[in-house]
Amino acid sequence: MKQDPVCLMEIDETEARSQGLTAEYHGRTYFFCSDQCKEDFDRDPEIYASQAGSSDQPDEFQADDYI
Ligand SMILES: [Zn+2]
Repeated sequence: MKQDPVCLMEIDETEARSQGLTAEYHGRTYFFCSDQCKEDFDRDPEIYASQAGSSDQPDEFQADDYI
């Protein structure tokens, strides 16, 4: 399950994709529940991108761990 970075609602990825409610920012894809949330994100992506996604991406992505 993905999370809408604006309203923090859980998002069905397939559903969001089919409705075009996605945005790419710094190489990551974000999913939204509505056009309104997408607009808010597009206006100020940095605010939302920084608080989203920490739970579904490993933090320890160090060069040493690579392999
Ligand atoms: Zn939303």
